[in-house]
Amino acid sequence: MFAYWGKILRVNLTDGTIKEEHFDEEFAKKWLGTRGFGIYYLLKEMDATADPLSPENKIIYATGPLTGTTAPTGGRYMVITKSPLTGYIAMANSGGFFGAELKFAGWDAVIVEGASDHPVYLYINDESVELRDASHLWGKTSGETEEALKEEIGDNRIRMALIGPAGENLVRFSAVMNDEHRAAARGGVGAVMGSKKLKAIVVRGHKRVEVADRAKFTSVVKEKTDKLRNDPVAGGGLPKYGTAVLVNIINQNGLYPTRNFQDSQFEYAEEQSGEAMTAKYLIRNKPCYACPIGCGRVNKLPTTGVTEGPEYESIWALGAHNGINDLATIIEANHWADEYGLDTISLGGTLATAMELYEKGILKQEDLGEEAPPFRWGNSEVLHYYIEKIAKREGFGDKLAEGGYRLAEMYGHTEYFMGVKKQELPAYDPRGAEGHGLGYATNNRGGCHIKQYMISPEILGYPYKMDPHDIGDEKVKMVILFQDLTALIDAAGLCVFTTFGLGADDYRDMLNAALGWDLSTEEYLKIGERIWNAERLFNLKAGLDPLKEDTLPKRLLEEPVRNGPNKGHVVRLHLMLPKYYEFRGWTGDGRITEEKMKDLGIDEL
Ligand code: SF4
Repeated sequence: MFAYWGKILRVNLTDGTIKEEHFDEEFAKKWLGTRGFGIYYLLKEMDATADPLSPENKIIYATGPLTGTTAPTGGRYMVITKSPLTGYIAMANSGGFFGAELKFAGWDAVIVEGASDHPVYLYINDESVELRDASHLWGKTSGETEEALKEEIGDNRIRMALIGPAGENLVRFSAVMNDEHRAAARGGVGAVMGSKKLKAIVVRGHKRVEVADRAKFTSVVKEKTDKLRNDPVAGGGLPKYGTAVLVNIINQNGLYPTRNFQDSQFEYAEEQSGEAMTAKYLIRNKPCYACPIGCGRVNKLPTTGVTEGPEYESIWALGAHNGINDLATIIEANHWADEYGLDTISLGGTLATAMELYEKGILKQEDLGEEAPPFRWGNSEVLHYYIEKIAKREGFGDKLAEGGYRLAEMYGHTEYFMGVKKQELPAYDPRGAEGHGLGYATNNRGGCHIKQYMISPEILGYPYKMDPHDIGDEKVKMVILFQDLTALIDAAGLCVFTTFGLGADDYRDMLNAALGWDLSTEEYLKIGERIWNAERLFNLKAGLDPLKEDTLPKRLLEEPVRNGPNKGHVVRLHLMLPKYYEFRGWTGDGRITEEKMKDLGIDEL
């Protein structure tokens, strides 16, 4: 087999055993990598109804066949587990360098099961693997942990995936951090590590990934890299302004959710745009492993000094979503969210829920404590005060650590929670891009944009421009195609930002050249479809009620946009969802048919 080692590391934290397992090409052709490997093992080995924070949950760190190769953006890995935030599948991916290093060490994936009774970290140095005590690291932030481990191991080139205090304290939206500011963030995957008392996975590898035909692969990679460099977004806007290039574009198009989605344009957007950040704070770009795009930002502030980020979602979540204008404060808050190990989208969404509850008089100052800053729109003191409180579950921070849905539920007003399947929504108001709304509603991991980025066709015109308010068959089919294609790109080990510039055939070319296979684009997309359906199957087994939960917050379905280009619009989900189920080949109530499961070869799981 090329581009794989065929090796999986299995670590049981309850009894401390470490085993090597193998897979063959047939398995690889069926599941490809990352999300594919992860969902296969979860479906096969665990009870989907298990408590996500119990030892019965498993957490899998998986690479794809292109991870660690020279394919553009080939550095991704995925954390797959049952989410403590949604109760359904979590598959959070991250760039940086950890994924590639894991591959260089000779492993395609690590499965962690059980739970330790004391803090540990896993140290992988090629074939040599051991569990080490991490009691001295417990309580340390991401940066402090990286520094302490580099010194302890005496090797500056180690890479690690770790949790900060938020994960240790089981915050339901805590992230797994790597390379300090890169995050596998969504779904609270950090809390699963925390529940297992696993502080970090540290890895150092010395091998090179072998592809089937080196010369051919090099030439295919060059061709695709050139395509990305010549694309106006992948080779222009993203390197120049980072993902924050979207702030002005999305705001001008009237999709920039403001004050918990009460409005869709923010009056201060320009002041926190990629252009403004570049002019005021940028020192340089920071690409992930093998990335020609380099959307990562290195900024400098008078307060925190040099830091990384924030990217578009974080600027919005900590900014417009809470009515906060001050870019320096947003950059600083993003820094601390990374240090404590929090998902910035859910952090911002939870705070925005609290803001609306407070502004409506439901949440009162006495609930917070007299010394706490009031949850008033635009009050950036809230960011300074609550990030640490949430991570440490101190005071009202303990309630916020449960996420926006549970917070709103505690006060009897879930209508002010802007999320799907208990996960906070990201930075696009779907009343201005209805296909994107269908994507949110049907996403296996709840409120999430990135697994079917319909903003591409509906707003940016990739691969071609679609009317954002068209809800016909073509739009619904495009949502399905984007979901399956993204599953494929994730499973390959690449970053989805390559879709600016590359199409399905380009991924086929790179995979075939690396693997020595001769699969068609359709066959690759079928792998994506298999992964999507398998994840759905896990959710159904975990108790998903599709007709109740494949939905959007009431505000987006019933309250028309008040101002801007999308004035008067809501999301007409009820017209799209039945078609979505039909085109997926599912039943009218959103369940996978026996026939579809057989067709995809997942009926045994
Ligand atoms: S495009 Fe950005 S997030 Fe994606 S691999 Fe490159 S630097 Fe990382």
